[in-house]
Amino acid sequence: MKRRILLVDDESAILNALTRLLSRNGYEVLTANNGVEALALMEIESISVVLSDYKMPMMSGTQLLTIVHQQYPETIGLIMSGYADFNAVVEALNSGAVFRFVEKPWHDQQLLAVLDGAFAALSARQRKASYQRLLIESEEALFEIDAGGDIHLINPAAVILCDATEDAVLGQRIDRVCPLLDDEQLIDLCTDQQEMLELADIDNSRSLRLVVKPLATDRWAVSAQYRATTSLGVSELLTREQLMSYLQNRLVQMDNPTTVIYLDVNGFKRFNDSLGFNDADCLLAQIAAMLLEDKPIDSQWGRMSGDEFALVLSGHYAAEQIETLATQLLAPFEGLIAFNDQEIHVSFRVGYAVSPEDGDSAIELIRNAQASANHCKRGGRFRAQRYQVDKNSPDVESMGLQSDLYRALERKELFVVYQPKVSLISGCVEGAEALLRWQHGRQGLISPMQFIPLAEETGLIEPIGEWVMATASSQRRIWQAEGLPPFVMSINLSGRQLQDVSLISQVENILKQSGLAPDQIELEITETFLMQDIDHSIGLLQELKHLGIRLAIDDFGTGYSSLNYLHRIPFDTLKIDRSFVSGLGEQRESLELIKHIIAMSRDLGKKVVAEGVESQCQLELLRDLGCDEIQGFFFSPPVSAERFRRLLENQPLVGVEYRGSSKFAATGLQL
Ligand code: C2E
Ligand code: MG
Ligand code: MG
Repeated sequence: MKRRILLVDDESAILNALTRLLSRNGYEVLTANNGVEALALMEIESISVVLSDYKMPMMSGTQLLTIVHQQYPETIGLIMSGYADFNAVVEALNSGAVFRFVEKPWHDQQLLAVLDGAFAALSARQRKASYQRLLIESEEALFEIDAGGDIHLINPAAVILCDATEDAVLGQRIDRVCPLLDDEQLIDLCTDQQEMLELADIDNSRSLRLVVKPLATDRWAVSAQYRATTSLGVSELLTREQLMSYLQNRLVQMDNPTTVIYLDVNGFKRFNDSLGFNDADCLLAQIAAMLLEDKPIDSQWGRMSGDEFALVLSGHYAAEQIETLATQLLAPFEGLIAFNDQEIHVSFRVGYAVSPEDGDSAIELIRNAQASANHCKRGGRFRAQRYQVDKNSPDVESMGLQSDLYRALERKELFVVYQPKVSLISGCVEGAEALLRWQHGRQGLISPMQFIPLAEETGLIEPIGEWVMATASSQRRIWQAEGLPPFVMSINLSGRQLQDVSLISQVENILKQSGLAPDQIELEITETFLMQDIDHSIGLLQELKHLGIRLAIDDFGTGYSSLNYLHRIPFDTLKIDRSFVSGLGEQRESLELIKHIIAMSRDLGKKVVAEGVESQCQLELLRDLGCDEIQGFFFSPPVSAERFRRLLENQPLVGVEYRGSSKFAATGLQL
């Protein structure tokens, strides 16, 4: 390739003479009569060496080369002038804008020698720049060390590999920051001029591969790569490093978009706890083998960390296609899977990212796909369908509980009980809360406090929650048909149900099937869930309100809502958490807080219900504070549908003086 040079001089005789000399010696020459012309030319031509006169109209040679140096830092600038001008260019020489001063009149051979030097310096600069780019962009960890093994230079990948800051690594000996490496081995490697060293962990689970290259000085460039020697022993399942480099190569070599689907096994920690690490690893291997069974064409699976897997797919997938694909991939996990002597249920959080929109490097794409899987519960940009989960629980015993819960619905072990909410004005039942119960075949009655979190974690809460809604509303409809007094049926919604895209249509169906007026149904959502993703919650509650149903904020006082938010949330009822009610009469703060909550609800025009009212004293305090309804053992625990009917038939409930009547009833509640 010809060496290209730009000559700048306002004397055309000089330009002509130099052009002749340089063209004869194999240069490709471009010319400009002044600095402005030169800069315009540089914008359109690729020029790496500029030889300029010093004294020119409009712009001096040093001014020109200073601008060139700023705009094209790799370019080499040379000044040609009479010796008298030397002092004027010293500053530009010192600043690096001018590489050499060439005296006029020139000697041809001397000038050619100076130009040789300039081009040699140019290629050194270019090599250095591309080495630096390589260093920065390389996925491989690169170190530059001296003969003693001390680190003088590292790239970002090496900083990650060492899991420390750059400052902490620089100056250290390489064996200190690269576990598995023995300093002597490395020094041997450098002095013996070997190229490569492979080291492995004692248990052979991890290996370190070092490639060592001597640099011009007595330094060595070391590239280091840790690799898991196998990924769970499953062939075709790449290690993290392998998948990252597969992905990076795809992104660099092909212009096609690439999709990464990221899977995170739900609650895998519990498997580790209940099965032990060895069996839990066997389970992961089984999961991996099941995932690989139906591998899409032109795709690659990798294990990213303990219980996280990623699939690299060629092509750009739309949200619905991802959902269809993920459904296919995860179809084998829909039911229970046999593992050792038991049956377990495994589910995943799924996220994805697509290049180039969501990242054009392997690190970025994987990070975004992983983040979207992490946020899967909260929805957002990469919301992928959520899948039914795994096993958990602290021991094999409760692990059984999880598989049992999976079957509980079909075995008809779940049932609903109802607890009245009584008006403090009339003593009548104004509402009922439907509460779920599980009559386990071997273990007897299990509390929702125990199994609802399990159902949440496994995703089973979605079908179970839908069943509770259907059961409670059809029961409410039966009582209505029997001519019993009307009341509002409240049903609890879990956080996970709030994220379920089909929630609105489920509620619509239930209203249609039960034939109930929408304002006869109230959905209770805990304050904590509401606050987790307030913007999403508000949007969803508005949609629910649109259907005409009532909404209650449950366990209020525990979730630190701010008043700002309460104004924005479209709710009808506030339920004061039991913990404040039980503190009534004993703790001054509870009384103050309840007073405040009631006053605030008044201002907002909302109804207030107190939960967990157990004593007459609590009831009277609440009544005097202006609370609308109470729910609690004082009137009735949650009871079967049968017993609840009797409550409805025997209203008003007696035992207290209500705000609306001056009468004291004499006895306790009759069921
Ligand atoms: P929650 O929605 O706050 O329901 C009130 C809980 O307080 C019920 O517990 C009820 O039995 C209990 N309770 C009522 N009055 C008193 C009282 O005077 N004293 C005491 N100590 N407790 C009282 P339960 O039935 O054990 O339910 C616990 C939680 O489980 C519920 O709290 C609710 O968050 C959840 N849950 C129950 N059923 C469902 C359901 O169908 N779906 C969902 N997502 N969650 C449910
Ligand atoms: Mg509730
Ligand atoms: Mg509650």
